[in-house]
Amino acid sequence: MKCILCGSDKINKIDMIKKDDLIILYKKSFGIDIENIIKHDLIYHHCLDCDLLFFTLKNGEIPSGDDGFYNHLNKLSWYYMQEKNEYHFAKQFIKENSKVLEVGCGKAAFASFLQNKQNYIGLEFSSDAKKLAKQNGINIENISIEEYSKSNKLKFDIACSFQVLEHVANPYSFIHSQIECLNRGGAAA
Ligand SMILES: [Zn+2]
Repeated sequence: MKCILCGSDKINKIDMIKKDDLIILYKKSFGIDIENIIKHDLIYHHCLDCDLLFFTLKNGEIPSGDDGFYNHLNKLSWYYMQEKNEYHFAKQFIKENSKVLEVGCGKAAFASFLQNKQNYIGLEFSSDAKKLAKQNGINIENISIEEYSKSNKLKFDIACSFQVLEHVANPYSFIHSQIECLNRGGAAA
């Protein structure tokens, strides 16, 4: 097992979590069936080099939510917040003509903080979020940043994500792909 961020093999196993416990808890707490997502018990790891804490399935795969999972979470009113403190912080770096890419944008609440929604693209796996955003004239693509970056290199002034990194299976390629989408001198946050 190697660290999913820095690639180090200095990894400690901290704990193991039974898949059946998780499946029962998700059903009881949120009414969500995660049997398709979690097919093995989980191992909780700690990287001694970069200090990252992360989960993998017992077979080494990294679990992540799918469209159905996020569509379910979408229906819980508290899940996608309309306002986050980070929005106010990020906004000060964005000019009216800045081209903005937000990865893992949820319902694209951040777009409403921007002066020019036409220069904004959000990436999000939830197809419901895409439909909803379209009604408000906001552009969302249901595609991963890794796929998106292949045909959108050097196109944006700003690449940002808010409370997303903990959801992604491969944080290294997630960050790397965002940087590839930036112009020279662009900013990622
Ligand atoms: Zn590491």
